[in-house]
Amino acid sequence: MSLETLESAPATGALAELVAHATRLYEDLELKGVRDWKAQDPSRRAIGFLPVYVPREVIHAANALPVGIMGGGDQIEIVRGDSYFQSYICHLPRSVIELAVSGRLAALDGLVFPSICDVIRNLSGMFKVLLPDRWVHYLDLPQNFDRESGGRFYRHEMATIAKGVSALTGVEVTNERLSASISLYNENRRALAQLQQMRVASPWQVPATEYYLLLRASYVLPPQEHTDLIRRYMQLSAASGRVEQDNIRVMVRGAFCEQPPLGLLRTLERAGCYLVDDDLVLGARFIPQPIAQDGDPWQALVDAFLYHTLPTASKYDVQASKEADLVQSVKEVRADGVLLMAPSFCDPALLDQPMLAHALEKAGIPFTSFKYAEDTGQFQVIREQAGTFADAIKLWGTT
Ligand code: SF4
Repeated sequence: MSLETLESAPATGALAELVAHATRLYEDLELKGVRDWKAQDPSRRAIGFLPVYVPREVIHAANALPVGIMGGGDQIEIVRGDSYFQSYICHLPRSVIELAVSGRLAALDGLVFPSICDVIRNLSGMFKVLLPDRWVHYLDLPQNFDRESGGRFYRHEMATIAKGVSALTGVEVTNERLSASISLYNENRRALAQLQQMRVASPWQVPATEYYLLLRASYVLPPQEHTDLIRRYMQLSAASGRVEQDNIRVMVRGAFCEQPPLGLLRTLERAGCYLVDDDLVLGARFIPQPIAQDGDPWQALVDAFLYHTLPTASKYDVQASKEADLVQSVKEVRADGVLLMAPSFCDPALLDQPMLAHALEKAGIPFTSFKYAEDTGQFQVIREQAGTFADAIKLWGTT
């Protein structure tokens, strides 16, 4: 069987139209869709946010659209972005600067930069200088997961975001509005969980590129619209008649911030790998289970962050064991192996990688690792590496 035949059958008909729609949203670096959404109601505002996680419910409750900014991928040429940074840091901030200075972020009325690494912290300062007419907020996420200290601190941070966005929209974040937003995002969580279940049960029905495009759509669409998109996709894909190929099942870890180009995900599938779990676009499902809807909605958001977020390199929780969680997750999704793929120069991902590799070794789980950048254009080496990994597992069950 040639490598090409290992890829899932391409979408056709209504499914192809839906995927094309998601692709257009992904390619919309000018944020035209966001501008159209704002044009329907002059009081609407849009707030950009950087990876990994911000409480989108708070922004939404203030009548603004949270818009995820994931860099320019391989779609833009960096003209000025490089001049802002030294050569030995990741690529994402360069393309985000390029998006800003080229006017592509004009639809955004404000931006939130969550604390995940020094690069994002510095970027927030640069935006204050570059776009002085926008509301720019650095969201200091707690590193203490105790309700009385980290929890109180986080609640205060969310209140600051609510105040900042409300000043732009004129809409106060009341408990009622926040509860309604939590409810909408909970529906979205349920739909995403069902999509993930479908992927684990029959990955040939949810190709990696399509799954990824659907996740990216959640960063530009209102939550209800995105939930509808997911549900429609599941119906169409289940009825599409795609058949299983002789691929291995892999889990991806390390891709939570700067995203690989779409072509790289396609390459992994062509090399014989079904992605059954990953941490791409992690902010879209950082709290995978629905948030409590009884009681104080602010406290519910606090508790969800403290106790129900997924482990990741950008979250420092001394109580949690990322190694044990990784091994457990591999079992749950029945992965044959793990791809530890990280953006070049990404300190959080690359610092965690030896620890994760050690845990996989100890548990006898095959893995391989490689680096990428959002604008990686040559996939041949990765294709050979992933193909060899897949073949070794098929032949011997290990590498
Ligand atoms: S890719 Fe890594 S180093 Fe770069 S901004 Fe994201 S978390 Fe920070």
